[in-house]
Amino acid sequence: MKVPLLDLRPPLEELRDEIVDAVTQVIDSTRYIMGPEIDGLEKEIAEYCGTEDAVGVSSGTDALLLSLMVLDVGPGDFVLTSNFSFFATAGVVARLNATPVFVEIDPETFNIDPEQLKMTLSEMDEENRNRAKAIIPVHLYGQCADMAEINKIAEQFDIPVIEDCAQAIGAECEVDGIKKRAGSLGDFGCFSFFPSKNLGGIGDGGIVTVNNSELAELLRLKRVHGGERKYYHRVIGGNFRLDPIQAAVIRIKLPYLNGWHRQRQENAKNYNRLFAEAGLAGKVQTPQVRHPDTLQNPHIYNQYVIRTERRDELQSFLSAREIASEIYYPLPFHLQECFLHLGGKKGDFLVSETAAKEVLALPIYPGMTIEMQETVVEQIAEFHLS
Ligand SMILES: *Cc1c(COP(=O)(O)O)cnc(C)c1O
Repeated sequence: MKVPLLDLRPPLEELRDEIVDAVTQVIDSTRYIMGPEIDGLEKEIAEYCGTEDAVGVSSGTDALLLSLMVLDVGPGDFVLTSNFSFFATAGVVARLNATPVFVEIDPETFNIDPEQLKMTLSEMDEENRNRAKAIIPVHLYGQCADMAEINKIAEQFDIPVIEDCAQAIGAECEVDGIKKRAGSLGDFGCFSFFPSKNLGGIGDGGIVTVNNSELAELLRLKRVHGGERKYYHRVIGGNFRLDPIQAAVIRIKLPYLNGWHRQRQENAKNYNRLFAEAGLAGKVQTPQVRHPDTLQNPHIYNQYVIRTERRDELQSFLSAREIASEIYYPLPFHLQECFLHLGGKKGDFLVSETAAKEVLALPIYPGMTIEMQETVVEQIAEFHLS
């Protein structure tokens, strides 16, 4: 049985007519830049995430870049972030000629380790610490980083927090006994509507959530070249606008998002059970969820990532049997060629280096069948146990 990593067709078929109608309306409106679809989506995402405001942007990458620009991050500045994420998280820092400072991850959740964050900041001399302009925790695979601890540290050192929520829209965590959603925990929440995210458009798109009207205003200003009045520019910005066609599609999909989360969570439960029944303990470690399952969405499983021995061999074995899988990510930041000048060496970050060798993302998309999941686990069991 062929099992793809992702199939965008089931949700598309479910909503095809509504999506085509919404796109047609944008086309017929002849309003192709900004407009009511953007305004509407911004309100709806702010409400969904539990924030005051949201600002639509061109991609998840630009959401991060624009947030850093609003904080005036530039040459000589430092931005602390997880050593194990999609490239954009660190790339945006370097693009502003600032220096990313990589922080080791927690071996169970693959998210930035608050202890290590605190240590990194404590070990910086005062001059450097004053140039630490932001912390970017990533809610990797769909599970929130330890925001209670991270916010405490950020407050102690007085550094703004930009959450990278690209993989975690709707993921929840508890801070001081209150349930909160990703994007409402830091100063900025950066989301992506890339088609493979849980809430994906039909192209690129993103949004930034904020709880502060001043920051929202600056985001909106810098989204359009930093000019309030046309052709007069107070500050430097860029073209970071969200396309209204993407906004219209996302607005159709948003009411279904929690249902799709539910399906991914069901699939995760099935995998957990199938792996336990297959007797693979010790060979395969299933995802570790840190947040209490009294929450509705402690993990939204943008990815279901196992740790496994002989990972590369297993991936080839599965691929030969038409079962797709992916490695997010094969190389931590400190060993990326473009960052080697920062002095990173093998052995500097053992937890992320080990993760990069052992992680494997399995298909978990809404609409995949239980038979497909059984096939995946049977084949993994055959690889490890025969
Ligand atoms: C997808 C992703 C991004 C970038 O989003 P784009 O919309 O593709 O630019 C940033 N960070 C993480 C963790 C991501 O998964």
